[in-house]
Amino acid sequence: MNSGAPRSVDEPKSDCAESLKELYAFLDGELTTERRSHIREHLEGCLPCYEAFDFEAELRIVVSTRCREEVPEALRSRVADAIRKLGESGADA
Ligand SMILES: [Zn+2]
Repeated sequence: MNSGAPRSVDEPKSDCAESLKELYAFLDGELTTERRSHIREHLEGCLPCYEAFDFEAELRIVVSTRCREEVPEALRSRVADAIRKLGESGADA
């Protein structure tokens, strides 16, 4: 038995959940520009979160077009689903 096996990089990062949570907060209009800047830094080195950020980019277009603060339930579900995927470690990233 190898109890001292090296850990792989596949371990889920709690930082990812934090970033997505902030992204989710953005959907509620509670995210500040400073927070968003912090998220972008994380996205530069995290593909899963980057894909989630794509939702945000899409969201901005919707909000900008409709000039509304409310976010489509479908879009919010997609972000929530992305957060759930982070919890399910073992996916073929
Ligand atoms: Zn991440």
